[in-house]
Amino acid sequence: MTRKIRLNWARKQIIQERILCSKKIIEKIFTVKIKPLKNGTLSRFGKESFGKEFRTLAFYDPNKHIIYFNVKFINKADGKLVHEILIHELIHAISDHSTIKIPGLTILKSGLKRQFFTKKKDGCDCKALNEGLVQYLCNKVIGRQSLSYRYEVEFITKLISLVGEETLIEAFVSDDVSIFEDKIDERFGREKFSDVCRKLDQGKYTIALRIINQSINDLSRAVEPTDCELNKYGLGLI
Ligand SMILES: [Zn+2]
Repeated sequence: MTRKIRLNWARKQIIQERILCSKKIIEKIFTVKIKPLKNGTLSRFGKESFGKEFRTLAFYDPNKHIIYFNVKFINKADGKLVHEILIHELIHAISDHSTIKIPGLTILKSGLKRQFFTKKKDGCDCKALNEGLVQYLCNKVIGRQSLSYRYEVEFITKLISLVGEETLIEAFVSDDVSIFEDKIDERFGREKFSDVCRKLDQGKYTIALRIINQSINDLSRAVEPTDCELNKYGLGLI
């Protein structure tokens, strides 16, 4: 499409990351296609997914396994930025996209993001968390801290220090998120975590970070024995 898009180089860079080189990821990354998006307006997919048409630089369509790029933008943009966006979209492309159907409810899972559809209403959660993880991985691949999704990335970095990188990646690429959910439940409690995700989706990053830090403090207070208890066992603190 343009000399600025170096697809094979981007593919190789991603699978060189130790954590992103499974057979499933390699297969997905070498089958994804790139197509131009004229005038930067989202196609019917954009309307279906986001409910409106708007201009965008690039997006990944999981139904077709295609990354669409805004041609006008690429022609004007700096090559480094085009490469970063390509890596970001390729990481979306290697994430899990599955549909879970239970009576009365359909869930579309995209990486960590989940869209819910019932007869009465639709909803979406963990969108910001998903973008944060995509950009966190993108930053690792490009070897620098981008300004894109910086607050979401900051949050993901904190989360990774608590539950581990592998746990998040596993939930991102697999249709089974139970390990991730169990770890999250263990750490924060189910209610608290959905609350944090909602705050992130609303752009309330400081509040989300505060909730997570508060949960850690509460938990460490709950499990740490008091001085008296330690004395009882002859392990008095000096
Ligand atoms: Zn994205």
